[in-house]
Amino acid sequence: MRLSKYFVKTSKTVPADEQARNAQLLIQAGYIHKEMAGVYVYFTLGKKVIDNISQIVREEMNAIGGNEVQMSVLQPKEIWEKTGRWDDKVVDNWFKTKLSSGAELGVGLTHEEPITDFLREYISSYKDLPVYIYQIQTKFRNELRAKSGLMRGREFLMKDLYSFSRNQKEHDDFYEKAAEAYLRVYERLGLGDITFRTFASGGIFSQFSDEFQTLSHVGEDTIFVDENKRVAVNKEVYNDEVLNQLGLKKEELVEKKAVEVGNIFSLGSKYSDALDVYFTDENGQQQSIIMGCYGIGISRLMGLLAEHFADEKGLVWPESVAPAKVYLASIGNDEKVIKSADELYDRLTDNGVEVIYDDRDLRPGEKFADADLLGIPYRLVVSSKTVEQDGYELKKRTDDTAELVNSGKLIEILTSKN
Ligand code: ATP
Ligand code: MG
Repeated sequence: MRLSKYFVKTSKTVPADEQARNAQLLIQAGYIHKEMAGVYVYFTLGKKVIDNISQIVREEMNAIGGNEVQMSVLQPKEIWEKTGRWDDKVVDNWFKTKLSSGAELGVGLTHEEPITDFLREYISSYKDLPVYIYQIQTKFRNELRAKSGLMRGREFLMKDLYSFSRNQKEHDDFYEKAAEAYLRVYERLGLGDITFRTFASGGIFSQFSDEFQTLSHVGEDTIFVDENKRVAVNKEVYNDEVLNQLGLKKEELVEKKAVEVGNIFSLGSKYSDALDVYFTDENGQQQSIIMGCYGIGISRLMGLLAEHFADEKGLVWPESVAPAKVYLASIGNDEKVIKSADELYDRLTDNGVEVIYDDRDLRPGEKFADADLLGIPYRLVVSSKTVEQDGYELKKRTDDTAELVNSGKLIEILTSKN
């Protein structure tokens, strides 16, 4: 990408109507635009980050047998009435709308009902199961407070997977596989050390649900962490009896603030029974389907990464999600410099390196400030000096000093897997 052709500009002013650090930084760096509280637009670079996070999640979901689909946002009221979740007294954050005929519709806030409902057409025998279906889709929730930037949106991107199993054992095995896949996702996002599988309330079939909580001073949740066992307990279920049951000791737990970055539930057959979806077993008997649901907050993760990986100069993306690997800045208008930078841009691109090329007519200081604000892992400078020395100045976002590298070394560094 050439910045001279990009429509977004960075800003030195902190947006006055935004309290959350993640959204402030992302807006200043030109990744997102605030449409209204809890609703954001993703510009080219922001979309790149969200796509990179999505891709990591997608790979891990495919690896455990997930089938990707895209459900509809508009939902018929009838299926939600069957499970008792249409009523605003039961689910208080619905957005609802109407057809011109007056028929009521729901705007998707989760998808247990529609996924289960369509499966009726495809499942009849034990041979059709188990099935794992997921999507990465925008969800709509009329959240009471939307002051945490991308971390609590009214419109936000979620990965939601639903499992359909023939019995509890089959369900439990998959549930554990999903939990492991979740931990791999957070690891790949650079959050492995500070993310904990957390016992929480809300299981329909089992006593607990499992949350995945990432430590953060801006977290809305309070958890008690056992660093050695790498598990935590959410404050909502924290009491002596529960600790006893889990074999955890009060003295070994530390109270922390955390952000819920994922959540997995055992649902039993609550939804499948309510929507009349069954299967016939080996003996011709009709049986209930055991379900689970598995959510990951994709846009919340982007907000959390922005909040966590930042310093006084701006964002510091982990390489796995950065919108480009390197920020290439040409210095001055010398023809030789521009030619050298253009050629380097082409060569890097040809080698599969993602480059943001700052080819604008700006002072070096402005370019360097933008390279830092955008948080691109490497900064590469082409100037009269580097042309003379027959090399390029390369610096990591997190380093203070640059080193002069030759072309071969450069390609080697920038094409190596981190
Ligand atoms: P929370 O308690 O934070 O409201 P939840 O329990 O309602 O979350 P789920 O319905 O289980 O969340 O959704 C799955 C995941 O989606 C959550 O773990 C979280 O990471 C993300 N998520 C939920 N609500 C939002 C939101 N309003 N904005 C961004 N991400 C969200
Ligand atoms: Mg919620």
